[in-house]
Amino acid sequence: MLSNSLIELDRRHLIHPVSSYRGHEYLGVRVLKSAKGAVLTDMDGHELVDGFAGLWCVNAGYGHESIVEAAAQQMRELPYATGYFDMGSEPAIRLASELADRAPGDLDHVFFTLGGSDAVDSTVRFIRYYWHCKGQPQRDQFISIEQGYHGSSTVGAGLTALPGFHAGFGIPYSWQHKIPSHYSYRNPAGDTPEAIIQSSLAALYAKVEEIGGPERVAAFYAEPIQGSGGVLVPPKGWMKAMRDACAALDILFIADEVITGFGRTGPLFASTEDGIVPDFMTIAKGLTSGYVPMGAVLMSDRVYQVMADGAGPVAIGHGYTYSAHPVSAAVGLEVLRLYENGLLENGRRAGARLMAGLETLRDHPLVGDVRGRGMLAAIELVVNKKKKTPLPAEAAPGRRIFDRAWKSGLVIRAFANGVLGYAPPLCCTDAEIDMILDRTRKVLDATLEDPDVRSAM
Ligand code: PMP
Repeated sequence: MLSNSLIELDRRHLIHPVSSYRGHEYLGVRVLKSAKGAVLTDMDGHELVDGFAGLWCVNAGYGHESIVEAAAQQMRELPYATGYFDMGSEPAIRLASELADRAPGDLDHVFFTLGGSDAVDSTVRFIRYYWHCKGQPQRDQFISIEQGYHGSSTVGAGLTALPGFHAGFGIPYSWQHKIPSHYSYRNPAGDTPEAIIQSSLAALYAKVEEIGGPERVAAFYAEPIQGSGGVLVPPKGWMKAMRDACAALDILFIADEVITGFGRTGPLFASTEDGIVPDFMTIAKGLTSGYVPMGAVLMSDRVYQVMADGAGPVAIGHGYTYSAHPVSAAVGLEVLRLYENGLLENGRRAGARLMAGLETLRDHPLVGDVRGRGMLAAIELVVNKKKKTPLPAEAAPGRRIFDRAWKSGLVIRAFANGVLGYAPPLCCTDAEIDMILDRTRKVLDATLEDPDVRSAM
């Protein structure tokens, strides 16, 4: 059987991202074959609703002929153009301009990357260069947030604050610091917005002092919603309070919108809804809806002018062979057109239905928390709601829940701690959202029957 031989070839040769190599050899691969809209089909013809848009990226959904055509047309005309040596291509220039038009405030300058990790990595290089130009190279300390995710490059993984990305890799570096997350379901400061915002501000000020004062601190990184940390939604006003505090301390503020950008939370960018203008914004995923790789750094005019004047005629030595790839840019332009011709609107409608539906799961004995914004949501499972006791590790929540969902025809993100993450394509119909909800309830019921869960209740 074809799928068996593929499974064997995969086992022998393909290293999967963020996986247990031995675990994967044992479990084998699930091969996806095709997809249309929000529905995936695997090698055996099994159909699944994609409640996670690939990896929170296929915002437009699968199978858009107009995206395929945009890529094919660009490949025919000019499949590659470097941005080095003052060269460029039309789609890259147009996409940069369209993004600058829509980004908040003076985020007018765009540096294209291949994805989110190298976008984050690029910000670190730009920030060091900015402080060098400002004559303050001692501002070389970076602060991010526990449970945050900022990619898997060595530098970005050090800003990331998930233990699995650090252990054994010799990171974080000594210049990479963390403050606690706003995680409102389990916040020692309590669950009121004011208490959470005040405790985050206090933690930021304390960390800055501990490092040696603001004159040592280069930048602060935050996701509008912490995605890979378990879809942790800060209270309203949190991003603005942190952004204002950084401005007062003259610390650069980076909004990492790799997940939240492109309609995931409703508007094109979550920062708009948060009422902030960051110094840098990192984007990827929904930028091309995952059809081809591309990310970007949006840089404020204030920062850009300092770097440009500081370097003068000298080349700023940062760039990639595939920066501003014309095929990716052509796809980005078409995807942007789709967002603005109904997709964002559909996402907002479907997101309201998803959130309302997830709220109704609160009556389930295992559901401790429901959180989200737009088409980015999570439920957190516990065995004791009062004590908020997580599912026991013996119940292998990540693997078993993913497996149950898969069998019921649903793909979700099943985190190892019993959090279930949702980020469906924005094109979802009402019926597809209802399928996600119905199948989730079945998964919860089956999880309740798991002897390892039962015995912990
Ligand atoms: N930043 C955030 C907030 C992310 O969620 C991710 C990816 N999940 C990244 C950066 C890294 O992006 P990529 O995987 O495209 O390198």
